[in-house]
This record gives sequence, C-alpha cells and structure tokens, in this order.
Amino acid sequence: EAVVHWFKRDLRTHDNRALSMASAKAKSKGVPLVCMFIVSPQDYQAHFTSAPRVDFELRTLEVLKQDLAEKEIPLYVTTIEDRKAVPGHILQKCEEWGAKHIYCNIEYEVDELRRETKLVKSCMDKGISFTAVHDDVVVSPETLMTGAGKQYSVYSPWFRAWIKYVHEHPHVLDASEPPAANPGGTKESFNVIFGTPIPPAPENKKLTDEERTRFAHLWPAGEHEAHQRLTRFLNEKVGMYKETRNFPAEQSTGMLSVHLSAGTLAARTAVRSARDVNSTKKLDGGNIGIAGWISELAWRDFYKHVLAHWPYICMFKPFKYEYTNIEWEYDEGKFAAWCEGRTGFPIVDAAMRQLNHMGYMHNRCRMIVASFLAKDLLIDWRMGEKYFMEHLIDGDFASNNGGWGFSASTGVDPQPYFRIFNPLLQSEKFDERGAYIRKWVPELGGVEGKAIHDPYGRGAVKVAEKAGYPRPVVDHKVSRERTLAKYKEGLGRS
Ligand code: FAD
Repeated sequence: EAVVHWFKRDLRTHDNRALSMASAKAKSKGVPLVCMFIVSPQDYQAHFTSAPRVDFELRTLEVLKQDLAEKEIPLYVTTIEDRKAVPGHILQKCEEWGAKHIYCNIEYEVDELRRETKLVKSCMDKGISFTAVHDDVVVSPETLMTGAGKQYSVYSPWFRAWIKYVHEHPHVLDASEPPAANPGGTKESFNVIFGTPIPPAPENKKLTDEERTRFAHLWPAGEHEAHQRLTRFLNEKVGMYKETRNFPAEQSTGMLSVHLSAGTLAARTAVRSARDVNSTKKLDGGNIGIAGWISELAWRDFYKHVLAHWPYICMFKPFKYEYTNIEWEYDEGKFAAWCEGRTGFPIVDAAMRQLNHMGYMHNRCRMIVASFLAKDLLIDWRMGEKYFMEHLIDGDFASNNGGWGFSASTGVDPQPYFRIFNPLLQSEKFDERGAYIRKWVPELGGVEGKAIHDPYGRGAVKVAEKAGYPRPVVDHKVSRERTLAKYKEGLGRS
C-alpha cells in the first residue's frame, strides 16, 4: 500500500497543504508516501507555457527530488505526450504502487478542473480516494461574497472583505507541516524511482545552451531560493515598497512572482511572513510598505477568485461581454515591432526587451505595453496576452488575463476604456532620468536629457538615426482618437 501526492504548481515541501495531508495519511496508515509530477507537453502547448518557465519547473524538480530523497520519499517524474492520457497514467501508477489515496492541490483553470473531474470518477470506480484541496490562494474562492451574496467584481470592496476575513480567521495563514520522513526500507519499485533522472524539456520547449545558462543565473530554482529571496526582500526592501514600486529602474519589488506561480513559495507563506514583520502583526496598518505589498499579493487571490467564478474567461472571451465586438486590427508588422521592442517608443521597447531577455517585466511596464498594444496599435489584447504567456517565466493565467483585461478595459474591474495611457507621460513620470530605457535600449545611450523619452520628437534625431533606432510606429494622438471611436463603435454594436 502507499499514499500518493501529485505535484502540480505547488513545487515545494514547506507549507504545502495537500502534501502535508498526504504525509499525515501515510504516517497514520504506516505506509510510504510517493510523490509524482507529470510533464505534459500538450498542456504546455495549449497554455502557451514559455520555454523558460518549463525549464524553471524542471530545475525546481531537481531540487525537490533531492529534498524529498533526504526524507526517503521518492519523486516519480515522467513525460506523457497525450494530455488525455494523464489521468489514466496516474491511476496505472497508483495500482502499480498499491496506492489507495491520492492528494493534490486544486488548480482553478478549466482544463485542469475537467482533468480532475475525470480522475475523481475513475478513482471512485477503482476504490481509490482522491482529495483535492485549496492551497494556491490565501482565501479560497467563493468564500467572500457581496452583501447580495454575489461574487465581487470590484477589487476595493473585495480587498476589504479579504482583509476582514483573514483577521477573523487567522488560521488560514497557518503553515502546513512539511512531510515526515518515510519509513526506511521502501519497496524495490520505489528504489527505481530514486535513481531515475528528471526528464528533459519537451522538444518544442527546449532552450538553447545560452538561454539555459542565462535563465538559471537570473532565476535560480527551488523553494530554498524562494525563501532566501523573501527574507532578503522583507529585510531590505519592503519598507520602501510603497514609494518605489512603480519605478522600473529601482528594482525595488519582491521579484517573487515566478516562485508564487510555480508554487516554490506559497502565497500564504508570503503573506504570513510579511504580517509577522509588521508592527501591528496585521495585514494592514503599521508599515505602509508591508501593507502595500500584502495588498499586491491580494490581487493575485482576487484574479483567481474571478477565474474560479467566471470560467469563461479561460475561453478567450473578454470578462465584459459588451467588449466582444471591438474591431481590432491584426497588423502583423506593428505586432512584430511590439514583440521585438522596436516601436520607436523607448519605454515600450525597453520593457519588451526586458521581457524577451529576462522572462520578466516590471508591473508598471506591463501596464504600459499592454495599453500600448490594445489602445495605440489597436491590436487584439489576446495576442498580447498570449505573447506574454509564451515569454514570461512567471506566466500565470489568472494574473495575466486580469492584467490584460485591466489595460484593454475588457476585464474585471478595468481601467475605463476612455482612460488611455500616454506612453510619453508614463515614461517621464516613472523613468524620469531614463535609466531603465538606457539599460534595455543601449543604442539610445548617447541621447541626453528628456529626449530619451522621445528622441525623434525632442531633437535627438541624428543620434537616434545613427543608432538605427526606429521612428515611432504610430502617432499617439491620432491613434488615441481612432481607438476611442473603435471602442465606442464596438460598444454600440453589443
Ligand atoms: P511585487 O510587486 O513584489 O508583488 C508581490 C506579488 O504580488 C507578485 O509576485 C504577484 O504574485 C502579486 N502581484 C503583484 N501585482 C499583481 C497584479 N497586478 N496582479 C496579480 N498579482 C499581482 N503576474 C504574474 O504573476 N503572472 C503573470 O502572468 C502576470 N501577467 C501580467 C500581465 C499584465 C498585462 C499586467 C499588467 C500584470 C501582470 N502580472 C502578472 C502582475 C504583476 O505585473 C506581477 O505579478 C509583478 O510584476 C511581479 O513582480 P514582483 O514579484 O516583483 O511583484
């Protein structure tokens, strides 16, 4: 007999609810715990998972395998080419291992929920218990309701309810026990697992050698790294977070999103650790940096609640139905310029180049480039959403979809459609001295003063031309008017 924990986006041993429960079950029955992870290339393909992200997961699995082995817990990792065969394979392994219990944490996307439903049914047929628990969010979806008993679709009142709920139910932040060591002398079939290496990345998600080195250097994997980053951030930076978080050159944010989305860090751990260093020992009040950081972490919960309640957002539909009929343009040349960071708008280009190099982009810049794509280029925001997923190392469906919906005004609690970012003003306000631009668009290094924000419009034509920097692909004023008209027209048709 055995108990199985199925790892998904919860790649850690600490503060992992399902893993903790699986371990307790194994202990109470006096049987071994076996862990598993399925590499599913078709899921990566269907969800546009980026190659750096796949690489991050595989590197994390190495760390996890080692940590679990120290407790004599085997981690079985295999690649299943056909995604539909995943539930069947899990069952087959359970039968092989004589496992009567499977534990896992819930993922809220539609494909994943459907897959789990299938598994639950097959488990029942075979007399295997299947337990899926809430773990990815601090407060479980469907817990917070408006006075009218509905799901919130506006962040601020939702956030007040979230804070109140956590203060009234402080146990939701309690850490789960790490798994206990397995009883020694595990079976032969488990010994084989200990000796089996983590599989390589699927062919379509392979990085080049240069990329692999770069991403491993930029984003060391595993939960120990996540904890170190969290501690460093809370010790050194969180105090100034509120004042500095909007300035991309400052590097003042937690840079923990990859860990939160791969589950090398639990959102619960992050919020609890921040609360514990707050003078009030609460989520609000006290240090404004800490309270501000917690409120950003709450956005992550918010978007997951929205996803769980309105699953149609997983199906390429805008949250706001009335925005279905906007006539987007599909200008391939402009889209390519945006993707490659050569729009002639330095702040946009800097941000896109940061994404392409690091698999990461600062939050302020994510808003700027998203707004630029939808409202300056009038390109379907879903193309941007997809491009982000294909390149972000921290790609997370709910947050990414929420961010795009906010910027394109098609999402939950969005920016009103007539509020259109002026990229030049954003650049002047949030990268005043152009340090971020100069870092990522080095050919503009010779441009002095305020011209850095708009070299062709501010008298740095010669330097920009010599550097081969492109001219702006659109005139912001013109495209603004066009976008307003197109949005109005689209709304009129709904
Ligand atoms: P910090 O400022 O240190 O914030 C702490 C944590 O809070 C983050 O790690 C993240 O988990 C959460 N958080 C912060 N801001 C947001 C937000 N606006 N929405 C949801 N969660 C938030 N975040 C992702 O994790 N994955 C994505 O795929 C993603 N796509 C985005 C797309 C767009 C168009 C926009 C506007 C935002 C997107 N975000 C996404 C949110 C945000 O930009 C990143 O979470 C943040 O930049 C990560 O950096 P950090 O860890 O240093 O954040």
